[in-house]
Amino acid sequence: MKRVYNFSAGPSMLPEAVLRRAADEMLDYKGCGQSVMEMSHRSSEYEGIINSAESLLREVMGIPCSYKVLFLQGGAATQFAMVPLNLMNKNKKADFVVTGQWATKAWKEASRYGETKVIASSKDKTFTYIPELDPSSFSRDADYFHICMNNTIYGTTYQDLPQTGDIPLVADVSSCILSAPLDVSRFGLLYAGAQKNMGIAGLTTVIIREDLIGSAMEITPTMLDYKTHADNGSMYNTPPCYSIYICMLVLDWLKNTVGGLSEMEKINRKKAGILYDFLDHSRLFHGTVVPKDRSLMNVPFVTGNAETDAKFVSEAKAEGFVNLKGHRTVGGMRASIYNAMPVEGVEKLVAFMAEFERKNA
Ligand code: PMP
Repeated sequence: MKRVYNFSAGPSMLPEAVLRRAADEMLDYKGCGQSVMEMSHRSSEYEGIINSAESLLREVMGIPCSYKVLFLQGGAATQFAMVPLNLMNKNKKADFVVTGQWATKAWKEASRYGETKVIASSKDKTFTYIPELDPSSFSRDADYFHICMNNTIYGTTYQDLPQTGDIPLVADVSSCILSAPLDVSRFGLLYAGAQKNMGIAGLTTVIIREDLIGSAMEITPTMLDYKTHADNGSMYNTPPCYSIYICMLVLDWLKNTVGGLSEMEKINRKKAGILYDFLDHSRLFHGTVVPKDRSLMNVPFVTGNAETDAKFVSEAKAEGFVNLKGHRTVGGMRASIYNAMPVEGVEKLVAFMAEFERKNA
């Protein structure tokens, strides 16, 4: 069996231990004679799985009890509508920081439901930095303030959170959740698609302060109302059963094998450090992001020559380093080094890059 180092932005690598456990439990989950894919979501076995997923997430992230955890479908992109439908309920206003494509999509979708204000944008420099925020420019009567905390395509991340006072801070944490400790109490709502650090596609997790539930707009479809899912333990309808199961296995790995989010952060800093340090000293490759705003998860880089970039991506693939091509809208390369990418994967990639540089610089 040959496994590659997969640098995809998502869906992405899973810890090998998780894949092995899923394989072991595939035909017969804990003696019940069936796989998790086949069992009723109302069975006691499945209840055990979804309850463990929630309690592990609460424990690993330190989620306060005044927050609900919801296991939903529709991807993070559905949250671009669900957040305004549920939260734009007092003054029908929200503030946005535009730091990339996903942040733009969140802002544009919300603009369909109320008045939005762009507080700052980094579009002028192809989203290669996180703009400075001046709290005096924030709307005092916004129903919420939205950021995309880690910008998957451009490789930027917030080092400091905006000071929004009483205005709920909402963050898309799709590509950084579980990568390091996060103070959940600073947020009104967090959302993330699972297919990067939480498991596989099909599951979207929402962590929402309880007082923000229950005042959705009149037009909100039942399935898009957080209250529907909060009142029914994410079981109003059939949940994404297998995706929640894999998420439970990933959380179990994070807690018991890695040792929690502080340990995970140390490993992620080590991996990112190896790659950024190489880029900072390379004669051929250059990182594209302002150093202070660099992401630990997504590392874009270029050679400055499209042909050399393409040659690198193709030679890397032949050596088992796959999905290094940058996003179709920005070109170059991007190495996504989520939690499940081992340190060894980054070390080997850097050794390959050094060799490529020797031959091509
Ligand atoms: N937000 C961010 C930060 C993302 O990286 C992505 C997907 N790459 C999305 C939103 C969209 O997520 P989904 O495909 O789960 O709808």
